[in-house]
Amino acid sequence: MEKDLLLFNQLVAQLLEAENAAPVAPFVPASDLLDTLDLSLQEEPLSESQFGESLKELVLHTPRTATRLFFNQLFGGRQPKAVLGDLLAVLLNNSMYTYKVAGPQVGVEKAILHQICEMIGYGKSGNGTFAPGGSMSNMMAMLMARDTKESKARAAGISQKMTLYTSEISHYSIPKNAAFIGVGREQVRYVQSNDLGEMLASDLDRLIQEDLAAGYLPFFVNATAGTTVLGSFDQINPVADVCEKHDLWLHVDGAYCGGVIFSEKYKALVDGIDRTDSFSFNAHKMLGTPLSCSILVTKHPQALYDSFSNDASYLYQTDGDDYNLGKISLQCGRRNDALKFWTLWKALGTAGLRRMVDQEFLLADIAREYVRTHPDYTLYSFDNSISVCFNYKNVPPEKLCTQLYEHSELLVGFGNFREDTFVRLVTINATNREQDILNFFQTIEQAF
Ligand SMILES: *Cc1c(COP(=O)(O)O)cnc(C)c1O
Repeated sequence: MEKDLLLFNQLVAQLLEAENAAPVAPFVPASDLLDTLDLSLQEEPLSESQFGESLKELVLHTPRTATRLFFNQLFGGRQPKAVLGDLLAVLLNNSMYTYKVAGPQVGVEKAILHQICEMIGYGKSGNGTFAPGGSMSNMMAMLMARDTKESKARAAGISQKMTLYTSEISHYSIPKNAAFIGVGREQVRYVQSNDLGEMLASDLDRLIQEDLAAGYLPFFVNATAGTTVLGSFDQINPVADVCEKHDLWLHVDGAYCGGVIFSEKYKALVDGIDRTDSFSFNAHKMLGTPLSCSILVTKHPQALYDSFSNDASYLYQTDGDDYNLGKISLQCGRRNDALKFWTLWKALGTAGLRRMVDQEFLLADIAREYVRTHPDYTLYSFDNSISVCFNYKNVPPEKLCTQLYEHSELLVGFGNFREDTFVRLVTINATNREQDILNFFQTIEQAF
């Protein structure tokens, strides 16, 4: 092990140096990949030095998501304290299903879940779990809703047409999950949004009433805290009113921006969160942990247990269900995603997490201000979002993004809302500074 750790440290040093010198990795077209790197597997082992060389090649050609020039998706940057936690999780290699094999790591996970439940007003009776990503968190919420509405579903399967509701600009995992859980994609109703990308509660109510009149069984509403393209926040209170009226489970998908619960300044964007039945967010997005770290909490711990528990005498042999977390999780074997968030939170304090979230909004303000005051740009998004959507001159956004990628200038993506397609700059990397945002625009201006 010592030898490999030494190699690891060398690779880390080489990577950090390369990231400094060139924040974007050399562009390797997919068609040239196998000519550029020797990725084949052979019968005979490599020598130690050949092994080290091939790892170095691989590492240095891999897209650099931690640098100041990565704006492509809803994660980025590198929080060293979180990386340390994740490295330890790999080294310790526990599985989170039982206290017997995870020991105090169970307490690490529970401490985070408990704290989140307190923060959002679920109180002491709330509970939750770590899912393998935001999509799966959404699926777990949808399953709890299904089983709560149709208690026979878990044993007998569903026997009637159940409908669910989400905004037209919500994440694509919602229809996928509807198919996974046996409800079907055709039973997803897409609620209209307003010009700010917020779900219209009046349209939600209308759709539910139509379905009730037609004999469907509505069961689940998904609201979004930070839509994937615009970064908009559905207003929870009006949606919660509709859910209470019709007795529907309300989930808030905060994968992207649910981290605002840590900010005094921005947590008003999720006002009414205490009225929801479940809530999820990705610490690997706004809070900068390595992928993946997705937290799901619910006000109804019994629903979590009912939907996900299963007896297994070969697995659960000591301790009670409170400490055997496998009884409330999606998987059987489950990696320790909690530790990296715990090390980060422990090291930075809640105050440090708050500063990260506030910094991301500050960077977005800077970017929006730049776009507003420079006539070559058109702005498509609005305040209180960390997605800054714009176009530059008449450059088609697809062309702008792809050329910057192919020339290894920077990584950014495009998105659309209604008729418009635009570049989507996400200021999710809290380690970035004002200069990095200005540099982003200068890079575009020099290229086009
Ligand atoms: C990223 C995202 C997801 C999916 O999360 P994964 O961890 O990538 O599965 C779900 N919903 C929203 C709004 C997202 O932005």
